[in-house]
Amino acid sequence: MIQDLHAHTYYSFDSRDKIETVIETAILGGIGLLGISDHSYGVGCGRTDVCYGKGPSLDADYGSALVRYYDHVKTSAERYRSRIKVLCGLEIATRLSKDAYVLPASADVSFFDYCLIEDLDNADSIMKGDIFSFAKRCGCPAGIAHTDLFGFLARRGEEPNRYFRRLAEANIFWEINVNFDSLHSFRAHGYAAEFFQNKKQQEIVRNSGVKLSVGFDSHIAREYKAERVKTANKLIRDMGVRLAFDGI
Ligand SMILES: [Zn+2]
Repeated sequence: MIQDLHAHTYYSFDSRDKIETVIETAILGGIGLLGISDHSYGVGCGRTDVCYGKGPSLDADYGSALVRYYDHVKTSAERYRSRIKVLCGLEIATRLSKDAYVLPASADVSFFDYCLIEDLDNADSIMKGDIFSFAKRCGCPAGIAHTDLFGFLARRGEEPNRYFRRLAEANIFWEINVNFDSLHSFRAHGYAAEFFQNKKQQEIVRNSGVKLSVGFDSHIAREYKAERVKTANKLIRDMGVRLAFDGI
């Protein structure tokens, strides 16, 4: 089953796509498992401090906004269940310089099917380089979003074999982001291309038992490129590495 665990809807502000549009686009593209993963700061416009120029929301109850988003995705997913499996995730912002965006400490995200955590490699992140504690705090399966993990480890002087084994033990997966759209100026992620070329990196990941995910990171459904997702799924499986939700 082809997986894509990274897609945005209008809950994210930087996408205008309805949940249904994103799901139908994935079905047309031959995706079997789709994860919708809207930005934690966008969901429901539920936080008075983060509303992208729309003014304060009347609903300051962020917890309820998260639940409403989850319920909406799940209700939509149910309608398409004979054609595609849809998971509800959340892409979590962690950068302090944008502290209004950071996931509030009190927010419960444990009921999500998974989360994608951003900016592990940014010195400005509240994680301070520690994905393990933050993933535990999230309480749901966690993945590292669009991060050059080998570059991050090299800068920190961490031994990659040991680090990837720790990730596997903590059940934290690593996203290979294959985005290519106008929102991101048609810039592909260099770390993903490098990983598909680099046999040594592949061997480290394979030996560690860590799982990967593939994400197109769609923000504009009409620019979705299912072929990039399919190719990445195939390359990962061919190298003997498992994908995050294989077998569900
Ligand atoms: Zn994203």
